[in-house]
Amino acid sequence: MSIIEPLISIVVPIHNEQEVLPEFLDHNLLPELEKIENYKFEVIFVDDGSTDKSIDIIKKYTDKSNKYKLLALSRNFGKEAALSAGLRYAKGKAVLTIDADGQQPPSLIPKFIEKWEQGAEVVTGVRDHFTKHGFIQRKGSKLFYWLLRRMGNKHTVPGSTDYRLIDRAVVDEFNRLSEHNRITRGLIDWLGFKQEYIKYTYGARIAGKPSYNLSKLFHLAVDSFISMSTTPLVIFGYIGAIITVLSFLLGIFVIVQQYILGDPLGLYWNGAVQMAIFITFLVGLVLISQAISALYISHIHAETQGRPLYIVDKKASQNLKV
Ligand code: UDP
Ligand code: MG
Repeated sequence: MSIIEPLISIVVPIHNEQEVLPEFLDHNLLPELEKIENYKFEVIFVDDGSTDKSIDIIKKYTDKSNKYKLLALSRNFGKEAALSAGLRYAKGKAVLTIDADGQQPPSLIPKFIEKWEQGAEVVTGVRDHFTKHGFIQRKGSKLFYWLLRRMGNKHTVPGSTDYRLIDRAVVDEFNRLSEHNRITRGLIDWLGFKQEYIKYTYGARIAGKPSYNLSKLFHLAVDSFISMSTTPLVIFGYIGAIITVLSFLLGIFVIVQQYILGDPLGLYWNGAVQMAIFITFLVGLVLISQAISALYISHIHAETQGRPLYIVDKKASQNLKV
């Protein structure tokens, strides 16, 4: 009697990685997968509009065996979209996402699987910060996670990467989300479920350059903030409120000290100064009202994101058909 081995899908987003792919596949990913027993694997390469020879290289593998699959996107949509596409087509009982550049060591895959076998539904690779290239990137990424936490996103562990293993139950829920400005890790963290973390050292690229330069990373950060939190709006409202209150008090002070008491302090504040105080007061009001309308917009935004109100953990629920 043959035992049916459960399938695990490996999703690899690829954008112009011709220099890396042969080395990554032949000497990193595929030998590691060979070593793992008790599971079958499918490897889904998501070609995210590569303009180099990446597709030709992948086709050499897909021609050899149909456990290698190529999902070719019509143009470059960005890694977030590529990951979402891969998750949609993955058939496995669990899906592991991994970069093609060798920065996320495939030798850890057995550890991911082990945690999953022990009951974790999302196993996330957490990078130790100090391996990030470049001073600005390093400080920037620290600042990013600090701000994200400050803004009330308590789900995301600093240093989380897209090197993760996701259980089928979570993948199915993820596939139901329809919002467009998405950050995969933010969404998966938002979904909840039982999470586990694996610390690893973010290696150097095997070859080639990262497609994410500073400006792209900055946009990604802004997207994360906007899609996960409304705190930036509220901050401006607070600033407006402070300005309004202070200038109001200052106005009262001028009226009392100058016109009622007859300027005992001898300030001789003229019309221009009074005008400046009045205008500052109005600026405060404008900031407040802007923040209020922005909050309305954020509610509309939340509605259009169409996230479900809650996610049911089907395995943990009992005596109910969910
Ligand atoms: N990638 C992608 N689409 C893009 C940019 C990158 O699919 O528009 C892939 C890339 O081929 C790699 C992974 O996403 O497999 C991570 O990209 P990169 O190494 O450039 O980013 P970083 O290591 O800085 O996160
Ligand atoms: Mg990389």
